[in-house]
Amino acid sequence: MKLKAFFTVIFITLFFYLGQGQTLWINWPEVTNPADLVDTRSRPIDFQLKKDYAFSSIGVSIGNKFDGARLSHVSLLNDSTISVLIRPENHPINMSPWYAFKIWGTGEKVLYIQLHYEHGRHRYPPKLSHDGKKWTLIESGDLLSQPKDSVAFFRVHIGEDTTWVSAQELMTSASMQKWTDELAKKPYIEKLVIGHTVQERPLVALRISESDRKNLLVVLSRQHPPEITGYKEMIAFVETLAGDSRKAKRFRKKFEIIVVPMINPDGVDNGHWRHNAGGVDLNRDWRFFNQPETSGLRKLLLTVINEQNAKVRFSVDFHSTQKDLFYLFDKNNLPGKSGIAMDWLNAINKKFPDHPFTAELTGFTAQISKNWFFNELRSESITYEVGDNTDRNVISKRGETAAYELIAILLKKSKKY
Ligand SMILES: [Zn+2]
Repeated sequence: MKLKAFFTVIFITLFFYLGQGQTLWINWPEVTNPADLVDTRSRPIDFQLKKDYAFSSIGVSIGNKFDGARLSHVSLLNDSTISVLIRPENHPINMSPWYAFKIWGTGEKVLYIQLHYEHGRHRYPPKLSHDGKKWTLIESGDLLSQPKDSVAFFRVHIGEDTTWVSAQELMTSASMQKWTDELAKKPYIEKLVIGHTVQERPLVALRISESDRKNLLVVLSRQHPPEITGYKEMIAFVETLAGDSRKAKRFRKKFEIIVVPMINPDGVDNGHWRHNAGGVDLNRDWRFFNQPETSGLRKLLLTVINEQNAKVRFSVDFHSTQKDLFYLFDKNNLPGKSGIAMDWLNAINKKFPDHPFTAELTGFTAQISKNWFFNELRSESITYEVGDNTDRNVISKRGETAAYELIAILLKKSKKY
């Protein structure tokens, strides 16, 4: 019996260490805030039933049989109102309640929809589409509830053709594949699969360069599925760096740009609020690397750095939140006080005074990508947050400007490399 107990202890100890993936990095600073230590081992998720719900008494059908959908249950309240239940993939979870579904009817009619969130409050005003590609914000008179209400209430005009309703514009892994395929037609852009997700979706990266590949700029996006505005700004940013301008060409002669545009395609295609298919917030897994998405990306970057004897000079992780915001390090804590991020923010704000980013200084210990880049690679890095409701035209113009401003800053810095 004693022997059995001994082996049980050994087994449990080994299980714990192996389960945690990588052991602690010695260069991560000591964690003083316990909230910064997060267990990122896989947890179960709730799969939504993919189904069309038909209400023949009022001639309305509603369904979620498409990538990016989220609709957990539907019931009829009266002859003009349906109640839709939106449940997250698991919880506790960040307050970013994603929803997306299709509605069609036997003829033109006005339908009232109540969105009931489980473990959430209303955040995203509905976007409507008739083809799943072109989206418009719901008319303000049709949205009958306020942000943070526990139930969202709105009116839609439906017909025989499908009306799509979504928290933000639907941009799934299929659209990312199409976008990266298009970019990879250029001779200096290589598209590669750097690993696979929990559900075996390919993890796609772009390598953009006409240089000796010694200086790297790393661009990440979509760790969090609903964060469409950050994703859109990333697209404008990358298209500019990959474009035909003289400035972009000069930049590519000095820098290789590594882009992982959608780190969480499982979460995106399953209509998750936050997590990957392992039920984990990927942007808390940059210390223990328990999930294949983060560990695949880490492996790619470490391989590139070793094989090319390269250095990451800067990295940008695109996200969305309530407002336009840079999370950055206090310049005075950085080695050499390089402070690329603050110069960049000021340069962008000068061009967009009506849509400025605010700066929020952060510590180094939360298990997020920004901190991994700094703690392990000693690279300055930022989290680039775009407001949920920022004007989409501003987003595409500002993404372009952000690219040109960063080109100028990095080329100037690179004279000292
Ligand atoms: Zn985020």
